[in-house]
Amino acid sequence: MKAVALAVVLASTPIALSAQHQHGEDHGADRPTVLRAARMIDVETGVVHPDAVLVVEGGLIAAVNPASVPDGAHEMDLGDVTLLPGFIDAHTHLAGQLDAASFTDAVTMTEARGAYNAVKYGGVTVRAGFTTVRDFGGDVTVELGKAVERGDIVAPRVIPSRHPLGITGGHCDVTGLAPGILERGPEQGVADGPWEVVEAVRYQIKHGAKVIKTCATAGVLSMEGPVGAQQYTSDELEAMVAEAARHGIKVAAHAHGAEGILAAVQAGVASIEHGSVLTDEIMDLMIEKGTYLVPTTYLVDRIAMDVLPPLIRGKAEEILPVARASTRRAVQRGVPIAFGTDAGVFPHGENAGEFEVYVEMGMSEIDALRTATLHAAELLGTPDRGRLAEGMLADVIALPGNPLDDIGVTKDVTFVMLGGRVIKHVVGGRDMHSMEH
Ligand SMILES: [Zn+2]
Repeated sequence: MKAVALAVVLASTPIALSAQHQHGEDHGADRPTVLRAARMIDVETGVVHPDAVLVVEGGLIAAVNPASVPDGAHEMDLGDVTLLPGFIDAHTHLAGQLDAASFTDAVTMTEARGAYNAVKYGGVTVRAGFTTVRDFGGDVTVELGKAVERGDIVAPRVIPSRHPLGITGGHCDVTGLAPGILERGPEQGVADGPWEVVEAVRYQIKHGAKVIKTCATAGVLSMEGPVGAQQYTSDELEAMVAEAARHGIKVAAHAHGAEGILAAVQAGVASIEHGSVLTDEIMDLMIEKGTYLVPTTYLVDRIAMDVLPPLIRGKAEEILPVARASTRRAVQRGVPIAFGTDAGVFPHGENAGEFEVYVEMGMSEIDALRTATLHAAELLGTPDRGRLAEGMLADVIALPGNPLDDIGVTKDVTFVMLGGRVIKHVVGGRDMHSMEH
């Protein structure tokens, strides 16, 4: 009977197919799933619970360590692993991957190629245990996020910015071309003066932005001025933050130099991306205002210097060691930190390398895990994820061993569940999930 009913659904409505696929492909349509594992970490308390049991139903966590489990549930015993909430990376670029060809992307990249990239790199990222990303990537990753929520594509959930906001000729514009070539305006995020900035904010939100990204200062991977130079004025940043706030949306500010970081923090942005030159004054203000630093520090070890044009390579060699030192001081001073990597600048899927750098800088293992769970969820404004608790999204990962003993195991995620759907399950070195399907 079930096969007949399914065949009717398949023949009649493609929309029903995707719903059936999402909820039914693993273990029967509406049956609850019971996940068992040797350990689970409560990231809020830091307590390791042995013999963990999670009940998953309807894409949500229905119960944690209940006295009894529902009859007829699908049972999965994952063995000697540690369960954690799916990780969140607050700074990705899923539509691209830095290589020698990237520097002509402004005139050669198509939306279609970006979309195929996003599907490929989104798949790599979610299988590395990152079930949510905040992505800065135009319409491509706005639509990627919608496709993920429909269940059409296996990739992380996306909090997208659409186009980043920047000044004419700044880091978020395209520079080095003749006048008249690829001139951009507020719709593409290039906006000057408070009113154009307001227009640009409204336009990004109209077309799907859930966060506003801005280039408060110059940057590394662009052909304009000194890397740390402030680009937006305080008036422009304040107008941006105020307009975004009227829509319930936060601002993330790319910022390298101290003046631009300070202006952005004072204007009320929710996060400083990179934060390469941090003074004591800035760090204390970030602590006071609860402004997150999103360090993107693993890339310092992994950026492909040999593909960078000389101007850009010079900027990278100047700023990256300074940035690494600032992150270390921020960790030690207690600046709020949300996990973010700039994945795309280094190979997608290596995101968890960021954890090791935090721990090497003196952060405890549990605090490192919190950056990619509790803290990132707070920064993204997504209280439905980042913890394993009743009513949360069933975005669950498993690691071999215990990351509180060795943070490096975060690079070896063996199991990923996204919204109750198993998308990776490695047993004896083989992904049983991909073999089953
Ligand atoms: Zn970035």
